[in-house]
Amino acid sequence: MTVQVKGLVQGVGYRPFVYRMAMQHHLTGWVVNRTDGVMIRVEGIASHMAGFMEDLRNLAPVVAQVDEVIIDQDLPEGLTGFSILASQDLGDETSEICPDIAVCPDCLADILNQPHRLHYPFVNCTNCGPRFSIIRSFPYDRVNTAMSVFKMCEQCQAEYDDINDRRFHAQPVACNSCGPVYTLHIGKHCTDNLQEVIEQSAAVINNGGLLAIKGLGGFHLMCDATNDAAVSNMRQLKQREGKPFAVMFRDLESLKIYGEAGEAEVSSLTSWRRPVVIIGNKNKLAHGVTLGLNTLGAFLPYMPIHYLLFGHINTPAIVLTSGNIADEPVIISNNLAMSTFSELTNGVITYNRDIVNRSDDSVVRIILDKERILRRSRGYVPQPLRLSYDVNGILAVGAELSGCFCIGKENRAYLSQHIGDLKNHETFQFFEESVSRFQQLFRIKPIKIAADLHPDYLSTRYATSLGLPVVYVQHHHAHIASCMAENNVDEQVIGLAFDGTGYGTDGHTWGSEFLVCDYSVFTRYSHFAYMPLPGGDLVTHEPWRMGLALLYQAFGVDLMQLRLPLLEYAGRKKCSLLIEAMEKDINCPLSCGAGRLFDAVASITGLCHAARFHAEAPMRLESAIIPDITDSYDTEISDVISFIPAIRQMVKDMEGNTDVGIIATRFHNALCNASLQVAQRIRKSTGITSVALSGGIFQNKYISEKLEMLLVNDNFTVYTHSHVPCNDGGIALGQLAIAGSKISK
Ligand code: ZN
Ligand code: ZN
Ligand code: FE
Repeated sequence: MTVQVKGLVQGVGYRPFVYRMAMQHHLTGWVVNRTDGVMIRVEGIASHMAGFMEDLRNLAPVVAQVDEVIIDQDLPEGLTGFSILASQDLGDETSEICPDIAVCPDCLADILNQPHRLHYPFVNCTNCGPRFSIIRSFPYDRVNTAMSVFKMCEQCQAEYDDINDRRFHAQPVACNSCGPVYTLHIGKHCTDNLQEVIEQSAAVINNGGLLAIKGLGGFHLMCDATNDAAVSNMRQLKQREGKPFAVMFRDLESLKIYGEAGEAEVSSLTSWRRPVVIIGNKNKLAHGVTLGLNTLGAFLPYMPIHYLLFGHINTPAIVLTSGNIADEPVIISNNLAMSTFSELTNGVITYNRDIVNRSDDSVVRIILDKERILRRSRGYVPQPLRLSYDVNGILAVGAELSGCFCIGKENRAYLSQHIGDLKNHETFQFFEESVSRFQQLFRIKPIKIAADLHPDYLSTRYATSLGLPVVYVQHHHAHIASCMAENNVDEQVIGLAFDGTGYGTDGHTWGSEFLVCDYSVFTRYSHFAYMPLPGGDLVTHEPWRMGLALLYQAFGVDLMQLRLPLLEYAGRKKCSLLIEAMEKDINCPLSCGAGRLFDAVASITGLCHAARFHAEAPMRLESAIIPDITDSYDTEISDVISFIPAIRQMVKDMEGNTDVGIIATRFHNALCNASLQVAQRIRKSTGITSVALSGGIFQNKYISEKLEMLLVNDNFTVYTHSHVPCNDGGIALGQLAIAGSKISK
């Protein structure tokens, strides 16, 4: 019998596992890594083979993910023994490259017990360790990784060659006598004695200092998350005013002292991917960590050095944030880290192995008990998504603010790691480098490009410059197609795409779209009423401008009589100027972006007049929600959806001193109720019963849960994101799916 296994089965200890299972079930044959998966040949008694197949399904290594098993019942050849054959390279049919894996419990035990790995901070095995972050080219062999410069010692080599050893063919295998080492630099002093590195670093943290430390996919900055002064120094160093910091906890018990994590959160927190998980915040850490938000980005140790450090650090919680300044990409080179951080921090920890592929920590949130990825990077990339049709040779370049591209190989979509804001020069270079890296790793030469319709996005300009045919895709159509592709939906759907901004086909900015679409065409059925953006792009940093715009739509010039914190904040003079600008239509482009409506409400309620980071206003508004409140404001639904009635009721509530939490909740409920009603209308007129939800607004847990429940209870089939971000980090997949469907037609 021949068994072909496709999926994430390489670089994860799958072949030794097959070998052990074959031995246990007394089968003969072989197993081989091929570029299109793992191929197994087994011969023996039928009942043994059945037992083998059962174990193959149930006992696979945790990291392995089997997508497809193809069994061929051919005649036995009378093979003797069982062997692991040398890998065959089948040209372009590449196999998968595994994401980076958190250090496993066996390896953590080894650093306490194995003489040649005592306290060794780069311990790894077939089941754990660096993968994507160290690979330069395909296939995944040590010579093609950042480990190529480290010659294995005899002991490591023996383990690497021994099929019964946990390090059999573990490409990054290393120990105290042959692998990479850490160095701590404090001022002019430096040491690579591990004990000193750990103790002196811990002392810096214990004394309230800041450290830069080289991680798996880039440098991190670290400080005590319970120390106010340290956290505020960190904000200065990062030039980051308000964006919350991620916090790494010593262990799950400590985490639960500071945050609320249910079963699903715990399962993500402890998974081998070790993402940052958005959990409930008990607000017991230094105030500067989240500045009062009711959520907290938390994660657990995943590199051996994290565990070693926590052994000496007093605090159970450290801020561990990406090692970069402002919007620049995370630093990966030792030299740049030294020149950037040595004066700004109290110490820099480097190591002498290169980071080849930059990857930030991934971020997930649990919504309706399902893991939703918000930032897809370390631990997830470059695992492909399997589509229901071919997207071979298509490069989709994504949007701009949350840069991320996607490249197609047969029916597999390889989504890049989170890249960041392409408007930053260094980030754009990172984008270009990663595009070539992916082409090389997966052996794809693009023949067609998919890009956003926005002519000024840097990604679009890049696409146009390549000299290949380009499919330009409307932003919100791409959002919905991304959700459809992730769920392998191949029918017409009602698509609700809610986000901040996207280029519309009517020359205005869109972002509250009710589409009827498949992969090839879309019809815009409805949207929120257009709002003027007084001051154009300024509104994204100044939500109060949106507040004023909505008040103007609801009350006209009478808005000046209202008793609202917004008017005090902005001052009457500024308000009059903007009203005049709106009356005369000077620098007031139109938008129907749902994000702008959230901005307006955040300011009218006094929760956020000025945004210090992207999406702060909607986050503050969500943070104010009181879950038990079920009543709602009114909206007016005609061809478009108007929130003017809601704004009027909200202002009345504000003037009557209603709790802002109640106001925020009524607004959220209004948005969900209106969306349900419009979906019902579309169903009535088209007969379509499936709804796909996408766009950055669905990062909002309350909206996502409430709207999905409303739709499901009304017998809609609802598709949502899980493995791909609903924000612009998922746009590239939708572009790819749309361009691919046009190829197949
Ligand atoms: Zn391990
Ligand atoms: Zn060694
Ligand atoms: Fe978007």
